[in-house]
Amino acid sequence: MARDVEVDAVVIGAGVMGSAIALELQRSGRRVVAVDKGEAVGGGSTSASSAVIRFTYSTVDGVIAAWEAMHRWVLWADYLGFTDGPVCQFHRIGKLHLPEPGYDAAPVLSHFDAVGVPYEMLDSAELARLYPALDTGCFHPPRLADDPQFFDPAHGEVEALYMPDGGFIDDPQLAATNLMDAARHHGAEVRLRRRVVEVTRSDDQVGGVVLDDGTSITAPVVVNAAGPWSSQINALAGVLDDMQITTRALRQDVAAAEAPAGFGVGDGGAVVGDMDLGTYSRPQPGGSYLIGGVEAPCDPMNWSEDPDADQVTSTAEMFETLVYRAARRIPALEVPLRPMGVASHYDVTEDWTPIYDRTRLKGYYLAIGTSGNQFKNAPVVGQILHDLIAACEAGHDHDVEPVQVQCHHTGQTLNLGTFSRNRRPASTSGTVMG
Ligand SMILES: Cc1cc2nc3c(=O)[nH]c(=O)nc-3n(C[C@H](O)[C@H](O)[C@H](O)COP(=O)(O)OP(=O)(O)OC[C@H]3O[C@@H](n4cnc5c(N)ncnc54)[C@H](O)[C@@H]3O)c2cc1C
Repeated sequence: MARDVEVDAVVIGAGVMGSAIALELQRSGRRVVAVDKGEAVGGGSTSASSAVIRFTYSTVDGVIAAWEAMHRWVLWADYLGFTDGPVCQFHRIGKLHLPEPGYDAAPVLSHFDAVGVPYEMLDSAELARLYPALDTGCFHPPRLADDPQFFDPAHGEVEALYMPDGGFIDDPQLAATNLMDAARHHGAEVRLRRRVVEVTRSDDQVGGVVLDDGTSITAPVVVNAAGPWSSQINALAGVLDDMQITTRALRQDVAAAEAPAGFGVGDGGAVVGDMDLGTYSRPQPGGSYLIGGVEAPCDPMNWSEDPDADQVTSTAEMFETLVYRAARRIPALEVPLRPMGVASHYDVTEDWTPIYDRTRLKGYYLAIGTSGNQFKNAPVVGQILHDLIAACEAGHDHDVEPVQVQCHHTGQTLNLGTFSRNRRPASTSGTVMG
């Protein structure tokens, strides 16, 4: 039978974001309940994440968050403070960014210089020497596989921006589980297979949530970390008209193949962001290879009204396009006989930058709009929401004077104004690159 409960904070969503937030709130002394309609922690869009770690963001705060988070992945068990089983691994195999012709690297490199992110520019000869598995040809613009010009010969050569500290996390769902296990260790409660159907309020103060089994959870703090379902929760909370930046679910395919010879994990491989061909890709321990898209102008944008109604397997059309593009860059990549891979959803904002913010409904906070590029930042997002909530609940007006978050490993300061729901668009990237 449903039993009503009272806690200090409810986190809606037990993906990597909700789990990181639950951990930071619970270990700072708040009693937390995390609620998820799914079967398992991290079983939402987090489970489909490519979990790439890179630093190329258009805002300096995006770079700072990714750089600080990288250090927390390196010291993952220390960051968690509690483990009682397997933990995810950070594979620091390096990241290559192959820009489209005419790319101006100056803005991102000035952020890297300011923040201290190591990098190297590789010309095509150096790229070919260090990564002999790659074809260094320029094939721009990206095309769909059925475009008659798809197999046109290269015209020119690409260069690369190389980040030695880039890489990937091998099991994104395990990362969320690690975070939530640590939160539970400190006393957090997790309710799975329970859907939030109401966000309660009293005048302008949030009151808690009601679950689909009739349980009322009363709390002065509620965090929306519902990933691609975030706008549905904001509608329940009645805050949609308080946001100039909005969120929308976008269906995305990730194709899978076998890792090409000479480009696996520990076998000469790196993470590749290929803006020239319109893909990103990386090897996976165990011998597979993941390939996703970067919203090339020719690619379909599959906006979704209801993520639960969409097919979650890769479509033949996108599979073919993604794998053929990757095979142009890595000729040893074999095209599988039938489509393999996953499909899931990004929670996309207008500027592909997340929203980490309060709202005009007191006690109701947002960790949403992660736009396909925030898995890597989860260990920092826990702290961001913790610091934001601590400040706002103590009476600070974050809308007037944005909270500043201190990053312990890098000594940098994050200005949370960059992630405001009411910012001017922070980036013009228009893609998952953010
Ligand atoms: C295909 C793909 C590839 C990606 N690749 C990368 C990458 O390489 N690098 C990177 O940094 N980021 C990447 N991302 C982005 C990253 O994975 C996401 O930003 C992150 O996982 C989002 O986590 P989340 O916790 O916000 O969302 P989710 O994991 O989706 O969690 C939200 C949870 O909320 C629950 N929920 C929703 N509504 C309700 C309700 N009413 N009641 C109860 N529970 C509810 C859902 O069940 C879900 O479990 C990728 C994302 C996708 C989809």
